[in-house]
Amino acid sequence: MNITLQVKSKYVNEIEYISKVFFSEIVGVSFVIDFRDDLEFNTIILPSGKKIYFPNIFFDDYYLNGRLPESVQYLKSEYLSEKVPIFFGLPSVDKIDKGFKFGFDILGTCFFLLTCYEEFVNKKRDCYGRFLHAYSCSNKLKYVEYPIVDQFAYLIRCILIEDGLNISTKSGSLNITCDVDWPYDNRLSSLKITLRTVAYLLIKKKRLRCAINLVSSFIKKRVGWSYQDEYRNAVTFIMEQCETLNKKGLFYFIPKKTHSLDTDQTLLSQDANELLNEIHSRGHLIGCHPGFLCSEKTREMLNSYNIFYSELRRICGEGIVHNRNHFLKWDINSTARELNDQGVDFDSTLGFSDHIGFRCGTAYDFTMFDLKNREMLKIKQRPLIIMDASVFHTSYQYLDYSVNTEVYLKEIVNRALRYGGNCTLLWHNTHLLSDEDRNMYKSIIMREELC
Ligand SMILES: [Zn+2]
Repeated sequence: MNITLQVKSKYVNEIEYISKVFFSEIVGVSFVIDFRDDLEFNTIILPSGKKIYFPNIFFDDYYLNGRLPESVQYLKSEYLSEKVPIFFGLPSVDKIDKGFKFGFDILGTCFFLLTCYEEFVNKKRDCYGRFLHAYSCSNKLKYVEYPIVDQFAYLIRCILIEDGLNISTKSGSLNITCDVDWPYDNRLSSLKITLRTVAYLLIKKKRLRCAINLVSSFIKKRVGWSYQDEYRNAVTFIMEQCETLNKKGLFYFIPKKTHSLDTDQTLLSQDANELLNEIHSRGHLIGCHPGFLCSEKTREMLNSYNIFYSELRRICGEGIVHNRNHFLKWDINSTARELNDQGVDFDSTLGFSDHIGFRCGTAYDFTMFDLKNREMLKIKQRPLIIMDASVFHTSYQYLDYSVNTEVYLKEIVNRALRYGGNCTLLWHNTHLLSDEDRNMYKSIIMREELC
């Protein structure tokens, strides 16, 4: 045992959960909890006997009463090179006799962020049923680009090391993932769709070479010649990039069509076998990408997982189960529990579709909590930090392919890795067709080598 926590005995499940995730999984220290009824401040007692006092603001004034944070201030500390947004309390770390006094609620803030608690309170959703960054406190208070939980963990780790504790430093890595919504080029499925895409490439995107390639592939396909399938080639491109970096890529596939917004090229389609076998034989990983309706209909989730398990185990055998929901759809009341019950080990859905950054306040893997039933689950979240669509889509951040964008993306990767977290990157194969996409992609994933 390294530290003792003295905390108020209200909301025992929640406190046990957040203490385990924050101290054990993220900071990397063991602890015991001493629940008390008569505390003015929560207290972390260090091995030397020194104490860190912090207020119990979130659970006293916000939890389960519909209130959300309204303002932010920034903590600057000698232990941290960057400022930290503070919204439950004051931005202060004061040295006092035999310890520290924090002005902010460290555990309450971590619980609020890691459980996505505000989505439980704020019911606003987009036309696909998703909670967006645009509706969030992180947009209002401008903190989505800060891994606040990881910054807090770094602060605590510094204090513990100063106190004489031998804690191993954490180093995260880049997780390269791809949602293979369309393994094969569906733009070649009819003359009408091909022509429409060619017009889009020429007029909107000004990509003459892409348009010529598409027309050439369409003609070759029609006359029965071999042709370049650009979507399929892009999956190979990702595998090659991963292999250059000695990494395993993770490719998510839709097992079953549940809605018109799902692919026809599911795990059961004729061509899927060839691709799945290649991904597996090259040492990469395959995850489940439940279709559009799965987050709303338990039956669809169940059927999708039955297919996924039978196909995956036929090709790969038993292994760790990875999940990411199509469209990043997520119901705060039920999805984590349902995936947990399907035997999923890691979900990686929780990034905002409309903004990159830290939806859960962390880049670390962490055990999830069912807010509705107020229980800790077994499933772990591997938060999604950067998605191509969030960066470039006209409805989202809509950035260009400039050096500024490259620098911005690299800084987000750096922020994730700087405090020991991972950076999970989602780049669709369908978004790797042009040189500018491929160059941007390569510069981001190679960044880690320079870190
Ligand atoms: Zn998808």
